[in-house]
Amino acid sequence: MAIRHISIEEGCISCNLCEDICPEVFEVPLGEFCNVKADAAVHLTGDPEMEAKIQDAADSCPVEVIKLTAD
Ligand code: SF4
Repeated sequence: MAIRHISIEEGCISCNLCEDICPEVFEVPLGEFCNVKADAAVHLTGDPEMEAKIQDAADSCPVEVIKLTAD
């Protein structure tokens, strides 16, 4: 199974956890809500280590707004 798409739903509380876990994909600009980085797709290669970090970030989000699409 590979992660193909990452999105952030409304409700982010800017806790920074996702960026701490996986800064390659997530960024939380000061005073703003979380973004998926513009070049995040380059990391969606199916690399197991990166997949684990992305999944960990999604699972760790306290308000569960990180949504992953996988196939
Ligand atoms: S972990 Fe969730 S609530 Fe925290 S910054 Fe990331 S998306 Fe927002």
